[in-house]
Amino acid sequence: NNRTLTMIKPDAIEQGNTGAIIQKITNSGFKIIALKLTKLTTEQAAEFYGIHKGKKFYDELIDFMISGPIIAAILEKKNAVDDFRALIGATVDPAEGTIRNLFASSVTQNAVHGSDSDENANIECAFHFNENEII
Ligand code: ATP
Repeated sequence: NNRTLTMIKPDAIEQGNTGAIIQKITNSGFKIIALKLTKLTTEQAAEFYGIHKGKKFYDELIDFMISGPIIAAILEKKNAVDDFRALIGATVDPAEGTIRNLFASSVTQNAVHGSDSDENANIECAFHFNENEII
């Protein structure tokens, strides 16, 4: 699979880091093939993060993800899912130079999302985009 879904999260947009993050993504060889500015409803955030329901951080995560606009994008590159997760860094203690290392405010407010498998990438791309929105 050569596609992954990213979201630039509300903290990064609020702090004015959108341009720097997109530049880092495109400089790392990812091609943007779909992109939109949107705001998740509570229902949409709950559906997107349904797998985390019941976890300690779930309510904080949902409140955060609906707190402001997000940017959703589909990125294309060979080995997109794994290469993008390497570029963003781990949830906890992201490596030096990764997007989360540079721009995250906390473990929850971590600037970006990246799909964690090819299967979820397909589901998440379809969650945010219709076929006619993908270049
Ligand atoms: P994402 O899937 O959003 O790229 P991830 O795969 O690194 O992130 P997940 O385990 O899928 O992390 O968790 C989804 C999101 O929930 C994280 O990106 C983060 O915002 C938040 N989160 C995850 N674990 C924690 C935690 N232990 N404490 C607080 N927030 C957390």
